[in-house]
Amino acid sequence: MTARILVVDDVLPNLKLLEARLTAEYFDVTTASNGAEALALCSRQDCDIVLLDVMMPGMDGFEVCRRLKRDPATAHIPVIMVTALDQPADRLRGLEVGADDFLTKPIDEMTLIARVRSLARLKLVLDELRARAATSVSLGMPDPLAQALAVDCSGGRILLVDDRLSSADQIITAMRGKATIDIEKDPQEALIKSVAGDYDLVIISLGLADFDALRLCSQIRSIERTRQLPILCLAEQEDRPRILRALDIGVNDFILRPTDGNELTARVRTQMRRKRYADALRDNVQASIELAVVDPLTSVHNRRYFETHLAALVAEAADRGRSLALMILDIDHFKGVNDTYGHDAGDRVLKGFTDRVRKVIRTSDLICRLGGEEFVIVMPDTSLEIAAKVAERVRGEIEKNKFSISDDGRAIEVTVSIGLAERGRDSAPDSLFRRADRALYRSKSGGRNRVSADAA
Ligand code: GH3
Ligand code: MG
Ligand code: MG
Repeated sequence: MTARILVVDDVLPNLKLLEARLTAEYFDVTTASNGAEALALCSRQDCDIVLLDVMMPGMDGFEVCRRLKRDPATAHIPVIMVTALDQPADRLRGLEVGADDFLTKPIDEMTLIARVRSLARLKLVLDELRARAATSVSLGMPDPLAQALAVDCSGGRILLVDDRLSSADQIITAMRGKATIDIEKDPQEALIKSVAGDYDLVIISLGLADFDALRLCSQIRSIERTRQLPILCLAEQEDRPRILRALDIGVNDFILRPTDGNELTARVRTQMRRKRYADALRDNVQASIELAVVDPLTSVHNRRYFETHLAALVAEAADRGRSLALMILDIDHFKGVNDTYGHDAGDRVLKGFTDRVRKVIRTSDLICRLGGEEFVIVMPDTSLEIAAKVAERVRGEIEKNKFSISDDGRAIEVTVSIGLAERGRDSAPDSLFRRADRALYRSKSGGRNRVSADAA
């Protein structure tokens, strides 16, 4: 995995040192020697991670980070702050301005590479989600990203896997009031809980007495439902080689014992923020996709979906030599409903219409709104003869009872005209559609409120 890293430091030898180390790990490195230059580079080019020195003349690292995180164009870029002293106060300040991680000078090589790799991996996931979000915007749908940025991080749920009570106690104390923690000593139980429970984060002690904690980490990573669940490891100084393995497996972050309460809170908060951000994006992208294929008024599928779907079903029916029927429905004198009772009354009729139709067709029959008061039903495995019976049932269902058009009980009679066609030996989707449409025309010209079938 490679990534483009921007290193920002006012001291040239520091820049050169970091550049050399990261380049040796095959990262693509760019450098900047002050805040303004860094901001300009970030807004101009696609940068995956920023390694940011805190102490710089002019604009310090905190200010650079604040500006990056405030700008929607750069807010998603992970920022690692490099502090001269291991000052908890500096770390807290960094978190307040939105920093994603910290490194202390002199920089330890293993920690540097580990943190950069872990953030690069996360950036990959977020980039894909952002690309999908961009697609939905270009299709004219609401921006999922803007909605996701408004996500709330409080009240997270954590699963803590630790078999040492004193250590668990420390964590519970540090997180009091910030998140709910469930403790689990048994790794097998922990795996089950992490799949079943709705957790934002799993904290795993690398020093479990009778079990290799790395195995639990890799199990969590390999299960679909928990693949994106952040994992934070608790480790001892002498565990360092295993920390590297953990990060390779896909553990998101680690913290060394004895745990500093502020650092723990900070890292937990960062992981939860990322998780919620990615979840919100995913949900919004899903909603956007639905929006693209579902009609908002009647919540049946729209024309765009119908066209793709019909082509697929016709091809499948042809492959298997099965029948397939198409029904086009057009509400009679619907313009009159709008003209006499208003557009809202018309909308109610449309909603009521689809509800009634859905009640009398099979679940495998798909109803779509073609536009206005025209609908279509695709019926797999259905002959023209059967389709005619279904159509008659639909027609009767619409005619049978009046449609409510207001809350005060007013109701009107509605009828529908229907045209039918069946897939012929070699009929393409559009010729099938044209034949059904011609049949519909015959229903209209023959007096409406009736069913006509294609003769061919
Ligand atoms: P016919 O029996 O020949 O089908 O006559 P019609 O009045 O139903 O057909 P026409 O195509 O002339 O009119 C369709 C009307 O549907 C025109 C338009 O105002 C109305 N319409 C289209 N979409 C909507 C909608 O989303 N809501 C409402 N309330 N009316 C709609
Ligand atoms: Mg009509
Ligand atoms: Mg019409």
